[in-house]
Amino acid sequence: MTAQLIDGVALSRRLREALRVRVSTLSARHTQPGLAVILVGDNPASQVYVRNKVKACEEVGIRSVLETHPASLTEAALLQRIAAFNADPAIHGILVQLPLPPHIDAQRVIEAIAPEKDVDGFHVANAGALMVGRPGFQPCTPYGCMKMLEHIGYPLRGKHAVVIGRSNIVGKPMAMLLLQANATVTICHSATTDLAHHTRQADVIVAAVGRRALVTADMVKPGAVVIDVGMNRDDTGKLCGDVDFEGVRQVAGWITPVPGGVGPMTITMLLTNTVEAAERAGATPAR
Ligand code: NAD
Repeated sequence: MTAQLIDGVALSRRLREALRVRVSTLSARHTQPGLAVILVGDNPASQVYVRNKVKACEEVGIRSVLETHPASLTEAALLQRIAAFNADPAIHGILVQLPLPPHIDAQRVIEAIAPEKDVDGFHVANAGALMVGRPGFQPCTPYGCMKMLEHIGYPLRGKHAVVIGRSNIVGKPMAMLLLQANATVTICHSATTDLAHHTRQADVIVAAVGRRALVTADMVKPGAVVIDVGMNRDDTGKLCGDVDFEGVRQVAGWITPVPGGVGPMTITMLLTNTVEAAERAGATPAR
């Protein structure tokens, strides 16, 4: 068997076209969605991510405001900038690119973002909303993975999903979304003994660890859906995921490539959350 590819680039293109229409509707009502992006320090990977996000905003008509600060920025100064964006009615979404320099408490910074502008979905209010099944903002990466499963029409009800990784931004919210979709969910992590024992039983595997070739063909049940969130470099410096793509594609039913899978979907869901935030702000009577 050779797995069918879940093409995150093609799906993103379709979803972004639909977003462009929503942005036009908002603009006709004199609201252009606005996203503030704050980058602290000079982490090269973060610079690339931020650039890609800003470019994607432009493509769908979202106004983005990029603020870059030196790594020496104090936490107090960063909190002040967030307070200013919280109060700015032209800004509907605020994104602070992680990681932050070690002298800044990332969680405190995230909690300072108004939950209705937390388009990354990391604020404890949004994490709590996801936990209890209330509307909020879903973290972009798991949200994008769910969109991919929806796109292939995969019926999650009663299926066994194994999530590898338990971070607050990917693994845990991914597990909650799969649970909400009525899958039976197992979360594996760094202390899991015999990872393969769990993955072999999975109808759906979501790998979010950051270790290349962690998931190999012998760990995958024939026909399973394999979603690769990982972003790593191989020996030649080429981007690769957590899944041994060439091996696993011989066994799986569906597979996401890296690059061109979850990565573009993450950005697409950031745009979706930003447009949604602007729509919600428009629907809220002025205070
Ligand atoms: P993280 O470092 O916060 O979490 C990694 C998780 O992997 C931890 O929960 C840990 O318990 C688990 N883990 C470590 N070793 C393991 C092992 N041997 N077996 C099973 N579990 C193990 O990372 P993160 O922020 O959740 O990101 C995970 C990966 O996804 C990284 O490669 C990151 O770059 C990538 N990522 C990609 C996107 C995207 O848009 N494509 C978005 C976010 C993160």
